[in-house]
Amino acid sequence: MTTYPLRLFFALPCPPHLAAAICAWRTDALSAGKAVAAHNLHLTLAFLGSQPASCVAPLLALAAEIQGKRSTLQLDRLGLWRGGLLHLAPSRVPQALERLQQQLHARLLAAGYVLEERAFRPHLTLARHYPHQPNCPAPTFDWPLRHFALFCSENDGRGTRYRQLGQWPLRPATPAGRSAP
Ligand code: ATP
Ligand code: MG
Repeated sequence: MTTYPLRLFFALPCPPHLAAAICAWRTDALSAGKAVAAHNLHLTLAFLGSQPASCVAPLLALAAEIQGKRSTLQLDRLGLWRGGLLHLAPSRVPQALERLQQQLHARLLAAGYVLEERAFRPHLTLARHYPHQPNCPAPTFDWPLRHFALFCSENDGRGTRYRQLGQWPLRPATPAGRSAP
């Protein structure tokens, strides 16, 4: 049987109600670039790139060991990176999100994966090939982070689609002064 490599990444999928709100705002406020489809909106935690399909089962097991905590990510910055990548980002990164990304990276590195060494800059890509910084004010969207997922990025010639291979819940934050059960 022939198995093809898969293009894999871990990410936080944008919940449908929030994706709909972001897309509604985007339609009103922005007018250029190639918009990312609502069902593809996400925040990347770790990009693995092309990997054999045999990696999926160990990756699912690795992710199940992660102890991630819930938090709320406030997207309140509208930015443009080189190459026209228009995105929303937080002014303040919740510690729980940073810890989740660090745990995941540490486990992936220990398992032998090669990861990007650049500092983590959490963002949600809104559009590509955006020509200039938009002059509208940045919106504010509160994103309740409740689970993370492993995705396989696929392109069938009509566009990119992410297939979810597994997802794991983030636990409620423990109230201060109480130890976790
Ligand atoms: P496209 O089909 O236009 O490339 P995409 O960039 O959304 O769409 P992928 O290239 O498969 O799809 O990327 C999946 C996710 O991984 C995206 O969040 C993307 O920004 C991120 N990513 C892609 N390549 C890299 C890379 N070399 N390093 C870090 N993250 C990457
Ligand atoms: Mg890409």
